[in-house]
Formats: sequence, structure tokens, C-alpha cells
Amino acid sequence: MPGLQQELIFAQSPEAPCRLLMPQAIAETLNRFRQLRVRDLEAGGILLGVRRGPHLEIVEATGPMRGDRRTRTEFVRRDPGHFQLAQRHWRSSRGTVGYVGEWHTHPEPWPSPSGIDIAQWHRIVDEEHRPTAFVIVGTQGWFVARGLRERGCLAGTEPWTTLLCLSA
Ligand SMILES: [Zn+2]
Repeated sequence: MPGLQQELIFAQSPEAPCRLLMPQAIAETLNRFRQLRVRDLEAGGILLGVRRGPHLEIVEATGPMRGDRRTRTEFVRRDPGHFQLAQRHWRSSRGTVGYVGEWHTHPEPWPSPSGIDIAQWHRIVDEEHRPTAFVIVGTQGWFVARGLRERGCLAGTEPWTTLLCLSA
């Protein structure tokens, strides 16, 4: 029953003007890729969702695909399938569901972005000019950030989230 499905809501504070909504089912999908064993490789994909004013609502996340580069400590999204799926959603939703961000895993309990992650996120924020969500899935918790060309942070209402400012 989708109506009863729990959603995770990330916000800066209870009064914050921007929220990130993620259905529990998608959170569980991402958690399935946690690198719990030594041989587990990094995974990742793109986040597809709807923008409602300053808010982001995630509706789907792609998972690792055959053409992606995956090692223990690196995920490089290379497979064109990620954006092919994004285009299909865009067309079938008549332009309401589209690319809203990125996710990937880290082999650490409480992840924090690497220098490469930050550089990539800044490039994406520079191109998008709209709020964007970035998620890193650790073995115990997540790192969730909202990227926007403004001074603003995203902090979590869930105890396992931390915050990041991406100010341009
Ligand atoms: Zn990373």
C-alpha cells in the first residue's frame, strides 16, 4: 500500500524551506548495496525525482550497471543506461520526473565525501542550477547533501544523516 509507505524526509530544520523526500522502498534498495563484506565493490547510480518548488521528491534510483567502473573504493558511472532510464521517465511523465542527483556507496561506517566526490558534485551543481541531492551510503549510516548555488545546508531529521554546505 503505497499510501502507507514510510518516507524519509531530510531537512535543514523543521522550518527549513527545502525538503528531500525519499520513499522507504528506495532507501532499502540503496541499503542493499552497502559494502558489508570485504569483497563488496562500490555501487551507485542516479536519483530520479520530482521538483516541487525548493523540494525534491525521489521516485526512483538506478543501480550499478554493466558498463560502470567499480572497485572497492571507486564507482564511476559510465553506463549510458542510467540516463536512458532518466529519459524514459522524463518522456512518460511528460517532463515532470527527471535527474535530481547522485548516490554511491563507501566502504566505511559513517561516510564522508572524498575530494573527488566534492569536485564532481560542484560540477553537477554548476550545470544544474537547481537543487540537487547527493547521497553516500555507508555500512552504518548515510551522508546526505543538498547541492545548490547558494549558502545553505542540508541536515537530516534522521539521526544517521549529516550535513554539507555546497556554497558557490
Ligand atoms: Zn565517494
